[in-house]
Amino acid sequence: MSFTVPEQLVTQLEAQIRIVPDFPKAGISFKDITPIFAQPSLVARAADVLAEAFANQGLTAVAGIESRGFLLGTLLAQRLNLPFILLRKKGKLPWRTVSHSYALEYGEATIEMHVDAIGPGDTVLIHDDLLATGGTAAAAAELVLGQGAKVGGFAFLVDLTFLPGNQRLQAYRAPIHSLIHSNE
Ligand code: AMP
Repeated sequence: MSFTVPEQLVTQLEAQIRIVPDFPKAGISFKDITPIFAQPSLVARAADVLAEAFANQGLTAVAGIESRGFLLGTLLAQRLNLPFILLRKKGKLPWRTVSHSYALEYGEATIEMHVDAIGPGDTVLIHDDLLATGGTAAAAAELVLGQGAKVGGFAFLVDLTFLPGNQRLQAYRAPIHSLIHSNE
């Protein structure tokens, strides 16, 4: 399915992404999306356009990845009239959880989901603010698959195209859509 983001929206979003060099460590060009969320009409438009890309595709839930994936994720779920599921860092969710650990550049991270959040028969849209190496989104996909559910798509605000995230997520054979593509 083709997905075109209106040029004006791309320009407006790009203007509100603050690039912070060497954060959280030397060599990382951090994309700070917080200024976008200071502009209610821009946030609404971003949610409208990204949700539209996933309308009528048989999705049954939207899963957002802690913490910036909660911001637009809940809005996407609202737009699509679907339940929103929280994927959180280890130890944060109060109920019984399932977890998936994945490798970071240094060490390991674990994300968790409530055990009763989804099950077989669900088709889940995974959302995070930004796609870099794809490790986080792939871990989210593994959590979804581990519960017998399907991955119905991936939605990001920003795709860092100089990193192999998009390529890595191809393995899940689901549409991957981002509002912005950045090569720096
Ligand atoms: P990855 O697992 O490598 O795809 O990294 C994606 C996760 O790390 C997302 O939750 C992002 O919020 C965060 N992230 C990675 N790189 C950046 C960056 N350059 N600027 C902002 N957030 C980033």
